[in-house]
Amino acid sequence: MPHRLIGEILVQDLGISREFITEALEYQKERGGRVGEILIRQARLSEVNLLKALSKQFGLTFCSTLPVEEINTDFTRIIPIQYLKRYRMVPFETGDGMTVAINDPLLFQGVDDLRIILDQDDVKTVLATHAAILSAINTAYDQSQDTAQQFVEEMHNGESDRIISEIEQTVDLLDDTSDAPVIRLVNLILSQAIKSRASDIHIEPYQNVLKIRFRIDGILYNILTPPKRIQPALISRIKVMAKMNIAEKRLPQDSRILVKIADRNIDIRVSTIPTQFGERVVLRLLDKSNILLNLSDLGMSEANLSVLDKLIRSSYGIILVTGPTGSGKTTTLYAALSAINHPDINIITIEDPIEYQIEGIGQIQVNPKINLTFANGLRSIVRQDPDVILVGEIRDLETAEIAIQSSLTGHLVFSTLHTNDAASAVTRLIDMGIEPFLVTSSVITVIAQRLVRVICPDCKEEYSPDKSLLEEMGIDPDMLFGRTLFRGRGCDSCFHTGYKGRTGVFELMLITDEIKNVILKTSDANRIKQEAIRSGMITLRQAGIQKALMGVTTIEEVLRVT
Ligand SMILES: [Zn+2]
Repeated sequence: MPHRLIGEILVQDLGISREFITEALEYQKERGGRVGEILIRQARLSEVNLLKALSKQFGLTFCSTLPVEEINTDFTRIIPIQYLKRYRMVPFETGDGMTVAINDPLLFQGVDDLRIILDQDDVKTVLATHAAILSAINTAYDQSQDTAQQFVEEMHNGESDRIISEIEQTVDLLDDTSDAPVIRLVNLILSQAIKSRASDIHIEPYQNVLKIRFRIDGILYNILTPPKRIQPALISRIKVMAKMNIAEKRLPQDSRILVKIADRNIDIRVSTIPTQFGERVVLRLLDKSNILLNLSDLGMSEANLSVLDKLIRSSYGIILVTGPTGSGKTTTLYAALSAINHPDINIITIEDPIEYQIEGIGQIQVNPKINLTFANGLRSIVRQDPDVILVGEIRDLETAEIAIQSSLTGHLVFSTLHTNDAASAVTRLIDMGIEPFLVTSSVITVIAQRLVRVICPDCKEEYSPDKSLLEEMGIDPDMLFGRTLFRGRGCDSCFHTGYKGRTGVFELMLITDEIKNVILKTSDANRIKQEAIRSGMITLRQAGIQKALMGVTTIEEVLRVT
């Protein structure tokens, strides 16, 4: 609670004349209102000074500007813009949670409602001017308009609203036979996901809402926020389709659904995890009809491609692909395997999960329940006399050791590691406990990769970045100033995102004799990387910038992923 009166703070801290305060207090007695607002109306106080005084009175921070550009626009899907404008408040995310900027420190109820709507345990409040809050609100709603709005409109078209209200009517009846609208809603969500090229569908329960989000080209978009009441029916329907145990809601479950939509076979991996507000469901869509890519379709430069094409025909050694989850590592490995797949060659894989089935290749699924780990599986594979082995991921020393042994005994081994760049893969193996000389005698190349979104060909435009924009993006202006860059304006065919599809960006580090010498002396990833660059390696960032200059992607995408 405030310790000092506002008038006192205004006089003592902000130098407002005591006379003005007295007059304002008299006015207040007659007609009501707040002293601060009366003073502003009388042009004796600015809004900023009032807020500064209020921030002292209430112990709140006053923010002269709000982080408008970085604002997370998720809330725009749930909250009508008028609501925020009326209460003069706007939520934004900071490093340690959610903050609500308010114009009136007494807006307890509004802030609390917002906290509940946005499903937050706790929110901080800061004070900001009416203009700053309004501008943040407008920017947030504009930004979300550019992206998710188009998907949402497609999704709605009245259809989903109608189905949802039908479900709402029937869930109250507890009538098991009337699940037809739920089935239609799930089908609508699936067909819409496929139409918009989504790779994942997220169904996320919160305290008061249910959120349905699609991941399209790597970015999550809010698609639908159906009422919480339909959550049990919707999730049960998906669990039925996936042949999961509907009664089990406290343990995670994994399963799959095979569906045919518009003549395409879609393999959907379904996983559920329990949360405090109900089961969260993620559906991963694997479209079998357009999965296997050729090496030349991955987005590799001609130079890297011709090197890699030779390496994958080596008779022994390890080829590592690194990058974070979702960076396209598996697609690259499958493309490599397909390129060398031939009846004369015995290829065996151990994977978790098997993402695509390739004809003519023996694929084993890791299964910890029966102790079929990467290491155990790999041990049995070696006894089957394969020429080429793919190990889904090297996660531990044991797997690394068997992979290296296999490569030294005349097998070509493909695998992945979770590291940010090629040089760090070497460091990771050594940190796991592999002797440097074993790394240098087995690993023949490390490829680091990322996926960038491709600019939509239907609305692509050129622009010349100005110096300040480049500086803002953290790019040395000398490198790109005066060059032409490209971006997507946004059109119907890309759902106004400016992007359509994705392509890979690659950093290929050949383990040359020079690099071997460095590795034998040090496991420092920076030293290894410097040597690789010296011998001609194009880094991920450089490869990305080349793609931006070629008009394949935007500079923002390159900065986002590298
Ligand atoms: Zn477009």
